[in-house]
Amino acid sequence: MDFLLNEEQKILQGMAYKFAQKEFEPVAKECDREEKYSREVWQKACEAGLVGVYVPEEYGGPGAGFFDVALITEQLSRVDLGLGLSVVAATFGAENILFFGSEEQKKKYLPLLVDGKAICAGAFTEPNAGTDVASAKTRAVKDGNEYVINGSKMFITNGTICDFMVVFCETNPNAEVRHQRHSMILVEADRKGLTKSKIHGKMGIRATDTAELTFEDVRVPVENLIGVEGKGFHQLMHFFDCTRTFVAAQGVGLAQGALDKTIKYVQERHVFGKPLAVNQAVQFQLSEMATRIELARNITYKAAWNVDRGQIDPSLNAMAKYYAGETAVWVADKALQLHGGYGYIDEYDVQRFYRDAKILEIYEGAKEAEKLTIARRLLK
Ligand SMILES: Cc1cc2nc3c(=O)[nH]c(=O)nc-3n(C[C@H](O)[C@H](O)[C@H](O)COP(=O)(O)OP(=O)(O)OC[C@H]3O[C@@H](n4cnc5c(N)ncnc54)[C@H](O)[C@@H]3O)c2cc1C
Repeated sequence: MDFLLNEEQKILQGMAYKFAQKEFEPVAKECDREEKYSREVWQKACEAGLVGVYVPEEYGGPGAGFFDVALITEQLSRVDLGLGLSVVAATFGAENILFFGSEEQKKKYLPLLVDGKAICAGAFTEPNAGTDVASAKTRAVKDGNEYVINGSKMFITNGTICDFMVVFCETNPNAEVRHQRHSMILVEADRKGLTKSKIHGKMGIRATDTAELTFEDVRVPVENLIGVEGKGFHQLMHFFDCTRTFVAAQGVGLAQGALDKTIKYVQERHVFGKPLAVNQAVQFQLSEMATRIELARNITYKAAWNVDRGQIDPSLNAMAKYYAGETAVWVADKALQLHGGYGYIDEYDVQRFYRDAKILEIYEGAKEAEKLTIARRLLK
C-alpha cells in the first residue's frame, strides 16, 4: 500500500481545506443556530469541482476515486461537519445509480449532480426500521408500467431539498428469504403523493437538511428500478460498504479540526501565570488525541484505497467507520474539556464540534452494527 498522496491529491486536499475555510467559517455559526441549509455553499462547491468527484468522465465527472472523495470529506469536516456534509452528501444515494443503474439512468442523473443542477438523497431508514433495514415496509407494487409506492422514510438527509432520491422499497414481500424482498427505486422529488417534512431540533449537523418522507400512492415508471428487483438489500449493503469510508473520513476531519483549535487555544490561554500548554498533563492529552486521529486516518485511507482497487473489505470499512466515529467523539470531548468554560459557549466552535461528532456513531450504521459486521468476519 502506498500511503503517499500524488500531486493531484495534494492539490485537491489543499483546495478543499481552503474552500471550507473561506466558505464555511463565515456562515457556520449562523447555519448551526438557525438550522439553515446553505444552497449557496453547495453551489460554490459544485463550481469548485468538489461535488461528485467519483462520477466517471463519460457521465460528466472527473472520474476520481472514492479515496479522493474521502480526502475532500476529511478537509471539509475539519472546518464544519454540517456544511461539509451538505456538500459531499449532495450525491448521497447516487452511488447506487453508478453501481447498479442502467446506462440511461447514469446518463440522465449523474451529470446533473456534478454540474450543481440537482441534489440526491438516499432514503433507506424508516420509523421502525433503522439498524434492521431489512424490516423496511415501504411497499412498491407494480401496476402496469408503474410502481405505486406507499410508506414512510425517516431521518433522510436532503429530504426536503433534493431533486430525486433512491428509495429502498419492499417489492417482493413473499420471497422466502427476507434479504430478497427489497429493491431500489428512483423517485423524483416532485412526484404527486410525496410529502416532505423537515425534522427540527437536531443536536448537531444542524446545517444539514433532515426530513421525514411520506409516500401515498406515489407512481413512478418501472424504468426507475435501479438494478435488479429483489436484490435491493444486497445492493444497499454494497453501497454502505463503500460509503462508510466517507463517514470515517468525516470523523477523521472533525477530530483533526477539534485538535487544531485546541492546540491554538492551550498556547494562548494562561492559567497559573503560564500557558496551559506547558503542563505535561495537557501535552499528554494532545499527544493522545493526535495518535488516535492518525490511527483513524490510516485505517480510513486504507479502506477507501481498497474500495478504489475493487477489493472492498466490509469488515475493514466497518472498523474504519466505527473507530473514526468514536475517535471524533472522544477527541471532541477532550477538546471541549481543554477549552474549559469558554468551550461550553457558542462563541467557540469547539462546542459545535462536540455536538456534531455524535452523529458519526449513529448514522450509516450505528457503531454496534459495525461491530456486528466485524465480529461476523471473526467468527466465520
Ligand atoms: C441526522 C441524521 C441523518 C440521517 N440520514 C439518513 C439518510 O440520509 N438516509 C437514511 O436512510 N437514514 C439516515 N439516517 C438514519 C440512520 O442511519 C439511523 O438512525 C441509524 O441507522 C440507526 O437506526 P435507528 O435510528 O432506527 O436506531 P435503532 O435501529 O432503533 O437502534 C437504536 C440503537 O440501538 C443499538 N443497536 C441497534 N441494533 C443493535 C444490535 N443488534 N446490537 C446491539 N446494539 C444495537 C444502537 O446503539 C442504535 O443506535 C439519519 C439519521 C440521522 C439522525
